[in-house]
Amino acid sequence: MNQRTEFETRSTCCYCGVGCGMVIRSDGEKIISVEGDASHPANLGRLCTKGRTLPLTMANDGRALYPALRASRDEARQRVSWDVALDTAVNRFADIIEAHGPDSVAFYLSGQLLTEDYYVFNKLAKGLIGTANIDTNSRLCMSSAVMGYKKAFGADAPPGNYEDLELADLLIIAGSNMAYAHPVLFRRIEAAKQAHPEKRWIVIDPRRTDTAAMADLHLAINPGTDVALFNGMLHLLLWDGYADRRYIDASTTGFDDVKALVRDYTPKLVADICGIAEQDLILAAKWFGESKNVTSLYCMGLNQSVQGTDKNLALINLHLATAQIGRPGAGPFSLTGQPNAMGGREVGGMATMLAAHRDLQNPEHRAEMAKFWASDVIPSQPGLSAVGLFDAVKSGKVKAVWIACTNPVHSMPDQQLVEAALKNAEFVVLQEAFTTTDTAPFADLLLPATSWGEKEGSVTNSERRISRVRPAIAAPGETKGDWWIATQFAKRLEARLSPLSTGRFEYENTEAIFAEHCLTTEGRDLDISGLSYEILEAKGPQLWPFPKGATEGLARRYTDGQFETADGKAKFHAVRHLGTADKTSARFPFHLLTGRLRDQWHGMSRTGRVSQLLEHVASAAVSMNPSDMERRGIKAGQLLKVSNTRGAILLPVEASDELASGSIFIPMHWNTRFWSEAGVNRLTTAKVDPISFQPELKHAAVRVEVVDLP
Ligand code: SF4
Repeated sequence: MNQRTEFETRSTCCYCGVGCGMVIRSDGEKIISVEGDASHPANLGRLCTKGRTLPLTMANDGRALYPALRASRDEARQRVSWDVALDTAVNRFADIIEAHGPDSVAFYLSGQLLTEDYYVFNKLAKGLIGTANIDTNSRLCMSSAVMGYKKAFGADAPPGNYEDLELADLLIIAGSNMAYAHPVLFRRIEAAKQAHPEKRWIVIDPRRTDTAAMADLHLAINPGTDVALFNGMLHLLLWDGYADRRYIDASTTGFDDVKALVRDYTPKLVADICGIAEQDLILAAKWFGESKNVTSLYCMGLNQSVQGTDKNLALINLHLATAQIGRPGAGPFSLTGQPNAMGGREVGGMATMLAAHRDLQNPEHRAEMAKFWASDVIPSQPGLSAVGLFDAVKSGKVKAVWIACTNPVHSMPDQQLVEAALKNAEFVVLQEAFTTTDTAPFADLLLPATSWGEKEGSVTNSERRISRVRPAIAAPGETKGDWWIATQFAKRLEARLSPLSTGRFEYENTEAIFAEHCLTTEGRDLDISGLSYEILEAKGPQLWPFPKGATEGLARRYTDGQFETADGKAKFHAVRHLGTADKTSARFPFHLLTGRLRDQWHGMSRTGRVSQLLEHVASAAVSMNPSDMERRGIKAGQLLKVSNTRGAILLPVEASDELASGSIFIPMHWNTRFWSEAGVNRLTTAKVDPISFQPELKHAAVRVEVVDLP
């Protein structure tokens, strides 16, 4: 297949983890239009509104077009050459490393970087500098899912693929408003249900979202009670004889502990904890037990929680107990939020990992990567992960921070902590495509990066499918690919820090980086040693693993009941319900829930450029149940102050019966550029899951007060 002609380029959408293929049309200078790539297995020609309007985001206003540096915090940044920018970055980082050690610097990346970008940054931090202080905004989105998979199956990533969503008789959709957050995948399951109306959906969500509104059964649980719900369902499945004892004995360990634990999760108790009818819980368990094939889809509602890993494990327990895994239409399937959260995991671009799903604390894994990277500085302990990283910048332990392709002032919990950290840092580098983010004012050095339509590399979507990202037009101004920026910095830093062993970052293009990445995966669970750009050009996007000699990727893992654990068996985990980090109280009586809008993405740096995307929801608001408004004498449109001990924001209120009484909802997207107030993360907690280190961005306890305008 011809992937690129003069005016037509096959590439991948830069927004969500569905990873839709698209055909970009250009006139050689400008992008004219996009359409869904009918040959791409993820979307089969479909695109959502965000994807379709990508050409409208390409204007140069608001773009970072040349490197800019400020001499002091009191001055504005001034345009400089790439040489000055890179030499300054190298000198500031090297001076700090030489004076205070490798852990005095840190990198904070993004699930929107491409795999090749991620690979170079990871090698640079762990293989050249010798610090594991490299984490990513993917920590905020799917690290609980990673730990759930690793603890249960011994390896990361979902067992199945998108076809399983269509083949399932029962879909459990937990903590995911797919209709908004993964629209094209939602269209696929919607079409499957239209063709087979007997298929069932159970949606588990405190809000009656557009996804929940289409469910056969909506379990509107109290926030943070998912573990209790799953334990209660398992209690009923065992009681009603749906457990598959043969599978449990042959392919799992730890069942007896879980069986003993869930004995206490009686239907009455669970219904009370979750705030649902006992009959609905019984029906959910019955449908799970009697369905031939069950697939569970889950996302931020499970992951962004201080019990995120436990929630994943409690759901996986249901699949293991009933052998709902390892065959078409059956299995637990985490949805990744960002376009390349999965690719970042593959190259080990997080503080807790090494390349190709290796473990930093495993001496054999370190030795393997030391050989690949010709490095004797690979750290043996995990570095600082997202929240801890900015804490360390605030305390002065980390003195220089490099932020690439993300906006932590908007997206991290407890925003004031991040602002204080960046003010306190000795040197902040921001590698960005846009100058308009809430993080941009904090950058001492701004490095202009290329963006969608201009970038080259690859990404992996939620189903483990690797797709190429191709440039359709030339990079504007002096923007450069993220891989190029990381490589140029690494080469110069290498010459300064280890002048006797240079030459480890001599990549001519992204293809050379991808080839090295593939080599590091040989023999690993995600083995793609048989894959290359050439094969991706010839055969199109491929699932992993794709080992040497393979002609196609593996559609499903664990089909033989063998897992990646030391004994080959999947592990049950006995996990107890603990609830949310913030508890509501007389002072802070409301549950604040956060989530996405259909037509916006993250901090709106890109989607906010398209007026058409504001037609769905035009401005910021806080949604509240009408009965709560009536009881408190609140009228729609009044300005509410929503606050807790961490901060306060002002928003107009709107009535919504999607919410239960006692809960309010604020979308995650709004920020100072689109609304005079800071975003909702002024209010969220920096408390994290103790296993995944993922913060509880989904929930906070707050109070609301009407603000009288003068
Ligand atoms: Fe892009 Fe996701 Fe929409 Fe597909 S569903 S077009 S990947 S935003």
